[in-house]
Amino acid sequence: MTHADLSRKLMLRVFPIPAFRDNYIWSLTAPGSRYAAIVDPGDALPVIRELDARHLEPSAILITHHHGDHVGGIRSLLRRYPDLPVFGPRNEGIAGVTHYLAQGDEVSVPGINAKFSVLEVPGHTLDHIAYHGHGMLFCGDTVFSVGCGRLFEGSAEQMHDSLSRIAALPPDTLVYCAHEYTLDNIGFAKWVEPENVDLRQREAQAFALIDQDRPTVPSTLALELRTNPFLRSQVPSVVQAAERYVGRELPRASAVFAAIRRWKDEDYD
Ligand code: ZN
Ligand code: FE
Repeated sequence: MTHADLSRKLMLRVFPIPAFRDNYIWSLTAPGSRYAAIVDPGDALPVIRELDARHLEPSAILITHHHGDHVGGIRSLLRRYPDLPVFGPRNEGIAGVTHYLAQGDEVSVPGINAKFSVLEVPGHTLDHIAYHGHGMLFCGDTVFSVGCGRLFEGSAEQMHDSLSRIAALPPDTLVYCAHEYTLDNIGFAKWVEPENVDLRQREAQAFALIDQDRPTVPSTLALELRTNPFLRSQVPSVVQAAERYVGRELPRASAVFAAIRRWKDEDYD
């Protein structure tokens, strides 16, 4: 990492606000700032509690997609902080969004001197976007650590394309997903790649973190590229496992991805 990269990263502090059973609401602040940006506040109360405890005030909300566990707290936060800008995808179904975003847009987050660029990543939902900047990716329910979101609205083709564009980001990118699913995902990934040594190491590391009550996220894109079967649909061991599952040859990486996704949906979850 160059010095410039490092200082770019250090400009922001990120902390998780746990919500519901396994959601992380990510909160970003800058050293010395009394403001924080909130990513996907599915619930307002834990956010308000955490910000009060840290003597912070929200300066913006960033939304990745329309699901309730990501947007459910917007209304209450706006009641308490009426002028809060809310960035999100162009989806009339999300009440409270003040700034609609699309592929390639740049978001200047007020209060914390941060800039993110927007990626459209349809698949889990059609409106799903991700925020990339400062060496970090806030990807909601698109990539999970060692997994990916279910295909509720998009096609496997679309999700594979979204994941491929995420996979092309710098490998040291920190991946901040919205759920603590890592250990469960590793269980399935081991079905696909029982011989993957990096996966075994990730499992040991994840167990150690969970034992200490610590989040297993963020991970790095580099680690995901070595362990996440949904980012590995061109790797021979994953192709072979997918072909064994469907019982025929799979000529395209997107077809391998589709088979792995279906395998997890139908037999594992
Ligand atoms: Zn979701
Ligand atoms: Fe979610």
